Amino acid sequence: MTSMMPDVQEVLIPSSEIQEKVREIGVRVTEDYRGEKPLLVGILRGAFVMLGDLMRNVDLPCEVDFMDISSYGTGTSSSGVVRILKDLEEDITGRHVLVVEDIVDSGLTLSYLRRSLLARNPASLEICALLSKPERRRVDLEVKYLGFEVPDEFVVGYGLDYAGAYRNLPDVCVLKPEVFGAG
Ligand code: 5GP
Repeated sequence: MTSMMPDVQEVLIPSSEIQEKVREIGVRVTEDYRGEKPLLVGILRGAFVMLGDLMRNVDLPCEVDFMDISSYGTGTSSSGVVRILKDLEEDITGRHVLVVEDIVDSGLTLSYLRRSLLARNPASLEICALLSKPERRRVDLEVKYLGFEVPDEFVVGYGLDYAGAYRNLPDVCVLKPEVFGAG
């Protein structure tokens, strides 16, 4: 229970399930990258919560870096053209890169980002996302490590925001409609 609960219409995925799933993904990543030192790339800002939990479940030497991107588009629909607001600090040539994202919606943002990172010649590039909205997908995108599929509803919590708020909710939630009206 948090003080933000009055704004929540429904808890879609409780914290305990998220933690369990992130642990499972951590085990898979540990097995898949055995002998390597992967670079986990968090997409700001939504992915920082998952990245922190995931990293502590990866039993390998690994490094972390961040990118901040903004998608050109109007309102809630992304155009798929991505502007890099903050680029990686690390050179990813020859590195095993695992991109960690909060949610894949149309898939346009990640598919653009994937192409632009591949041009830097990493040894490998895979995608991990906490959530996916399959109904909304507009491009084919392989998400190797996926937490949960969610319906086509706007969700917040565990890193995901609405107007900058609710990232610190431990559960993934749907907000009450009146919250959006007030925003
Ligand atoms: P895509 O390019 O896949 O359409 O857009 C993905 C981005 O849209 C995510 O990184 C996230 O910032 C935003 N997004 C999509 N759906 C949601 C949602 O339900 N809640 C929040 N907070 N952000 C979303």
